[in-house]
Amino acid sequence: MATMIIEGERTSAASGKTYEVRNPATGEVVDVVPAGGPADVDRAAQAAHKTFATWSKLPANQRREILHKAAQHMLGKVEEIATLLTKEQGKTILESRLEARRFGENIAWFADLADKVHGQHVKLPDTTTYGLVVRKPIGVCGAIVPWNFPLTLAANKVAPAIAAGNTVVLKPASTTPLSTLACIEALIEGGLPEGVVNVVLGQATGEAIVEHPLIRKIALTGSTPTGKRVMAKAAEQLKKVTLELGGSDPCIVLDDADLEGAARAISVGRFFNCGQQCLSTKRLYVQEGVYDALMEKLIARASKLKPGNGLDKDTRMGPMHSETQRAEVEAQIKDAVDRGARVLYGGGRPKGAEYDKGWFIEPTILTDIPDGARMWTEEVFGPALPVRKIKDLDEGIRLGNDTPFGLGSSIWTANMASAYRAVQELEAGYTWVNALVIAHDELPFGGTKQSGFGKEHGVEAFLQYTEEKSVVYGGIG
Ligand code: NAD
Repeated sequence: MATMIIEGERTSAASGKTYEVRNPATGEVVDVVPAGGPADVDRAAQAAHKTFATWSKLPANQRREILHKAAQHMLGKVEEIATLLTKEQGKTILESRLEARRFGENIAWFADLADKVHGQHVKLPDTTTYGLVVRKPIGVCGAIVPWNFPLTLAANKVAPAIAAGNTVVLKPASTTPLSTLACIEALIEGGLPEGVVNVVLGQATGEAIVEHPLIRKIALTGSTPTGKRVMAKAAEQLKKVTLELGGSDPCIVLDDADLEGAARAISVGRFFNCGQQCLSTKRLYVQEGVYDALMEKLIARASKLKPGNGLDKDTRMGPMHSETQRAEVEAQIKDAVDRGARVLYGGGRPKGAEYDKGWFIEPTILTDIPDGARMWTEEVFGPALPVRKIKDLDEGIRLGNDTPFGLGSSIWTANMASAYRAVQELEAGYTWVNALVIAHDELPFGGTKQSGFGKEHGVEAFLQYTEEKSVVYGGIG
């Protein structure tokens, strides 16, 4: 049985309760884990608070070295961690390897900032004084993570937090705790001091983290409704919050686009991770002149995505993560079809005995979807792509922005002026121009509108795990 990790100790829930983690491809139990609650969060927060006193005072270059060593050790375990991730999440082993590697790389990337980010010296009018702006870590930070990219999204929070000298109480999604535990275990084995990152498990620990008075900042990745609840709760203690929430990213393809490049990017953007991506291609707007040619290419690509158990080497798309998630996407597809949409590819479940026990679904492409259909107005968190023909860029930008979300967006065009307009006018935290929808460590990433606020990745994320303090030194003249 897996355990939580609190101050380095492998621990069960105070209540003694447990629950099962199941494989989305087979329904089999992968492991049994503690169902933690407020008492466990309290222990973890106390441990993180105690450790903060030493971790935050460590010279920054030593923190950098410790984190590099720990990340290297973790990277030596990518294969076993990736296997666990596929078993609990469903994604293909190739996707899991990429994600497990990204965890270690992210820790190393932020480790390099530990001793590189400075405060300022400020001259004051009274020359017998001078001012300083110093950057300090915040304290104990809560990290709350969803199930779609358990490791990437944990690293996005843990890496900048601990590099800046904070300590963390980390809560993975209740259905994907095992690979996260393995990563933190590996960091500790690799020299990360016990208590710097504490992992609590179970549904009830999320709210307890937001409510705990010792936890000073909350970083949540999750759905927009969860973000609103967390922000309201955090407001009671005026905690800092970073909210990475839902999205419905538009992609615009114009007549002058590189269609092969666009088809590849759209296919990866919509079908990678079985479509369960926040940054993604969730609504596709294609100019009339290239519509038919692009559909042909997209259908050809979708037909190569063989669904299957993520551990099988010929699988190109794993199952959806849960029965509820699949039911939601199927209901969105049905809503579109009931309103008159045409299915260009997929639309159902793959047939065969090997698919009976898992939450499999076909990669799906739909067109002629009327306005008001759920696929246009809601986030589609699965491998179903709604497509619409557009006359020109104006229409693409208008439709692209017709959403409460503002996470990512992309455009494919050979015309610099069109690209520039899209960059200026699309309401989103990211715009990719003729590029794969991939979030880079170097670039700040975060949404606008109801996709949340605050940044992960980049120096900006590091800064959000620090507080500025002004200091006046007198008596120098
Ligand atoms: P979710 O909102 O249901 O859960 C996310 C996490 O929050 C889980 O760990 C959950 O246990 C916890 N949680 C739920 N209610 C809580 C509460 N009241 N207080 C504290 N914690 C609580 O999301 P999900 O279904 O796990 O993930 C899918 C959603 O996440 C999608 O909307 C997706 O777009 C979004 N997402 C966003 C990003 C991004 O970076 N913007 C990245 C990945 C996923």
